[in-house]
Amino acid sequence: RAKSSSRGEFVYFTRDMALEIRERSRLLQALRVAIERHRLFLCFQPQIALADGKVRGVEALLRWRTEDGRLIEPARFIPIAEHSGMIVGIGEWVLRMACFQQAALSRAGHNTVTMGINVSVGQLRHPRFLATLNRALEDSGATTQLIELEITESMAMEEADSLTRTLEAIKKLGVRIAVDDFGTGFSSLAYLQRLSVDRLKIDRSFIAGMCKGERDQGIPEVVIQLGHRLGLSVLAEGVETAEQAALLSRLGCDDAQGFFYAHPMEAAELLRWLESAPS
Ligand code: C2E
Ligand code: MG
Ligand code: MG
Ligand code: MG
Repeated sequence: RAKSSSRGEFVYFTRDMALEIRERSRLLQALRVAIERHRLFLCFQPQIALADGKVRGVEALLRWRTEDGRLIEPARFIPIAEHSGMIVGIGEWVLRMACFQQAALSRAGHNTVTMGINVSVGQLRHPRFLATLNRALEDSGATTQLIELEITESMAMEEADSLTRTLEAIKKLGVRIAVDDFGTGFSSLAYLQRLSVDRLKIDRSFIAGMCKGERDQGIPEVVIQLGHRLGLSVLAEGVETAEQAALLSRLGCDDAQGFFYAHPMEAAELLRWLESAPS
């Protein structure tokens, strides 16, 4: 306990850091075991076209179920997977699983539903990425045009130069690219012109408060206009209320995703959900 002196606080602080480091390496070790034991799986969250309420696509979201049945959320383990390089292997598995799932959706008759796949910069930077993507597409029989890679805005702009060629190659395959968490990256917009992206996903932090007042809808409104002006479609993340959906629709936003429509679900549940959804 830090009683009073700054020295005490210093001791307390370093003990905290040591605990943090120990916790991280414990988590990393547990993640290794989890991968071996196939404890990772994907959930899928629907994306809805605001104009007609039809299902436009789904986003694949990674989950980790521990041996005692708890779920560990990606925010806790993706960063350590990225830091340790393990994300390359995990990301490859996600890419393959999601492509196979898209092919399965097509076979079930949902052959216009896009599959969003989150991709980390460590993955994209890897020299084998394009080969991995190609093989996932081939092996699964996925419809290339229905696969959409999501890259975060901060990453898109930090790495814009080195990643331009990779992104162009991805586009050439016919795979779509979305900029995830748009608006949080504080970035120069120049990269939007340079990179061939198809879609902007407005970060949910801007959606959460957008119905409070005129000023709070400013960012979503301007992102929608910017996207459309550049010929991109725009999706709002984290839509939780009918009021948000109605306002986004009024502002001309193309698609929406969030708990208001559906939570992320496992594959079997998604299939049942799609059967009863307008498409
Ligand atoms: P993201 O790509 O922005 O994904 C959207 C996150 O928002 C998901 O969290 C989703 O469950 C959550 N969400 C959806 N609708 C709502 C809503 O209405 N309200 C609220 N409060 N949240 C909502 P999740 O699944 O915990 O994933 C967090 C982040 O982890 C993702 O953010 C993505 O950056 C990363 N991630 C998830 N799966 C993968 C993966 O397979 N690979 C990589 N590299 N990153 C992943
Ligand atoms: Mg995403
Ligand atoms: Mg996002
Ligand atoms: Mg987000």
